[in-house]
Amino acid sequence: MLQAINITRRFGGVTALRNVSFSVDTGELVGLIGPNGSGKSTLFSVISGFHAPDEGTVIFEGRNITGFPSHRVARLGIARTFQIVRPFSGMTVVENVRVGVIYGCGERNIAAANRRARELVEFVGLEQRADTHARHLTLAEKKRLEIARALSIQPRLLLLDEVFAGLNPVEVRSAIDLIARIRSQYEVTIIMVEHVLKALMETCERVIVLSSGEKIAEGTPAEIAADPHVISVYLGKTYAAG
Ligand code: ADP
Ligand code: MG
Repeated sequence: MLQAINITRRFGGVTALRNVSFSVDTGELVGLIGPNGSGKSTLFSVISGFHAPDEGTVIFEGRNITGFPSHRVARLGIARTFQIVRPFSGMTVVENVRVGVIYGCGERNIAAANRRARELVEFVGLEQRADTHARHLTLAEKKRLEIARALSIQPRLLLLDEVFAGLNPVEVRSAIDLIARIRSQYEVTIIMVEHVLKALMETCERVIVLSSGEKIAEGTPAEIAADPHVISVYLGKTYAAG
């Protein structure tokens, strides 16, 4: 479904991604991990058209989408969430989602767009907050809104950037359940950046590890947890031991 080939992206003197290649099959749930600053969010930005790569190619469903602007990539079926949530603060929860239904998904009938937006709001568990302005939501609620907005374009590929970050254990558990429900209800392939390793190890079939902009490992969660290089740069001894 997705192929990234030799992706390099620089910001001034910083090389955020260096020659990164990987591919994802339809229906997979792939985890993306690595220390802060290792290039994970930049990789999502390159795939979703938010930043063009300096070198390399992105192929989505057989089409070369390298350098396509983000609105075009979205219409082709790739949605992302942002690590720092970006709702329209002065709009209600439903209005936020409706924007995606109308402009991302092309629904021109307002009543239908409203219905669809409310369904999604309910799906992510925000029905009690549907008519609240986004700025009044808690962080956990904003993360759910971010997911509803991503789903509003009916993506075939969903890029989730740290949707568990900053959540308490109960909220993490319910976010894991939400991801499982997304997978059972929508035919969507997911790549997920996550620091909550337990969540990632439980959910993902395959994990890709970045360090300083380079891919240093790729494998099943068990293989990654036992990889000496990954342990030394990221996981540390604690995770390996327990
Ligand atoms: P991660 O998501 O793994 O924490 P990022 O992709 O956000 O890492 O960042 C990778 C590197 O690129 C970091 O050194 C970061 O400072 C730099 N970087 C990311 N985005 C920008 C940007 N828009 N402008 C300048 N530097 C950036
Ligand atoms: Mg990041």
